[in-house]
Amino acid sequence: MAFFRSFLIFCLLLGTADAIPLAPLHDPEAFSHLEFSKNLAENLSEPQRQSLIILQTKGKKIRALVPAAIKKEWDEKKIQYRSLAYPSRGVELDPTYRSRLRKGCVPAAEMLNGYKDDRLNELYLNCLQKEFPQIATLYVIGKSRLGRKIYALRIYLPEIQKQPQVNSFPPLFTEIRERVFINCAIHGNEAMAIEHCYEIIIKALTERESYPVLEKLELWIVPIVNPDGVHSFWHRSTASGRKNGFVSGRARRNLTEGVDLNRNFPFRWNTGNEKASSGVPGHGFFRGYAAASEPETKAVMNLVDKLRFSSIFSYHSYANSLLVPYTIEGLVNPQPDIPGQLAERLLLGIASEREDKPFLIKKNLYEVDGTDTDTFYNYYGSLAYLVESSHLYQDYRQVPAILQGIRPIWENLLNFYAEVPMIRLQVTDEFSNPLRASIEFDQFVFKEGEQRGTAADGTFSMFMPGIKQCTLTIRAEGFAVRQLSLKPDVYPMRTIVIMKKSGNP
Ligand SMILES: [Zn+2]
Repeated sequence: MAFFRSFLIFCLLLGTADAIPLAPLHDPEAFSHLEFSKNLAENLSEPQRQSLIILQTKGKKIRALVPAAIKKEWDEKKIQYRSLAYPSRGVELDPTYRSRLRKGCVPAAEMLNGYKDDRLNELYLNCLQKEFPQIATLYVIGKSRLGRKIYALRIYLPEIQKQPQVNSFPPLFTEIRERVFINCAIHGNEAMAIEHCYEIIIKALTERESYPVLEKLELWIVPIVNPDGVHSFWHRSTASGRKNGFVSGRARRNLTEGVDLNRNFPFRWNTGNEKASSGVPGHGFFRGYAAASEPETKAVMNLVDKLRFSSIFSYHSYANSLLVPYTIEGLVNPQPDIPGQLAERLLLGIASEREDKPFLIKKNLYEVDGTDTDTFYNYYGSLAYLVESSHLYQDYRQVPAILQGIRPIWENLLNFYAEVPMIRLQVTDEFSNPLRASIEFDQFVFKEGEQRGTAADGTFSMFMPGIKQCTLTIRAEGFAVRQLSLKPDVYPMRTIVIMKKSGNP
């Protein structure tokens, strides 16, 4: 029994790569690099054990980053350990990294071959564009604080069964598909998140017959929102990488600097709650000096403002949860609350790889403000969720099972477009030019200044589960107000709304 118990603990310790705490961040002030005996680790409580960052287990010794609180306890009890220099370079998380980088392009189907840093991401996205020239298009949506490119891959699968052509005059719009935005690694230390983005890319490109709904969609995928953070995590220290490359003052950049991009988004940025974000550059939740001050935030906001995605997933790790907006405390959700209503359906079929921690729906993990998904929901009405993967960076051999475990969540999201009623509009002037227009709904109660309106191409789409009829008021500057009543339907044809100049007879 004793053997079994130690064996169990040994396995737990081996498995602790997924035990990196989300807060505080593993910065050198919060953690010490220590060598100590396995017995010592066995005597820790379960949460304490989970908070160790094991770097090496060798014989009866463990080398780990130990939180300050545990070290203090050991010091008080005069427990023996050896202090080591804080690791200055990234821990070699994936020994295959260098050979994969040297190898260059591999077919899409082989890209789940190991973790990806900013360089491998750049390489592989370029490879994908070459492998699928008609389908996958690579865009640079902006540059990071330190000048690294932020890439988005657009996937647009041609229809296998062409719709019958109807000739009409004036010509009807070519159908503008529903747009889905998947972004990963806004926190660069969450290596697993990037793999979720790649899984979606690879499945969409290579197993399209399994996903017929993709013929209705245009996917935009940003595998790394925060390339500075990812680079720092891989090539400087795993104690860094959550934040971007922001440097305060003239000091040389240290490991604790940077802006937490998921506290930098404009909606309710800096609510005044010091637990939700921080104004101190060295803090793990540093929000930046102004709302959307960071180039990464701006790049994402520009994309989302332009395209107004009807659904958005933002992948993080590793709390094994779906976070449903509003994630900021104290806000009143719109009624009806569509993301709240649809959340349960996203979890159907999930079989997360973590036995100790079931996959749950939550509002948040701790207090936050200035987050991306809240901004997308408030500003644009996007069905926007934050998906917390089940692990942080396990041995890569476990990654396929981890991805498979929570795969249903994005499959369910895509299937909403084949199952959940929507309204889909295109607003134009009399000459078919798209218009930016605001849209008000009689059926919704908004308490947090929510606004709904069209994208740059005049389109507006929204899921409307359980709503039989909705009444809209559409306004565009210089045009007469339009009102219409619509019945939501499953992926209906876009309703063309033609606005007439105000004052015209
Ligand atoms: Zn995160």
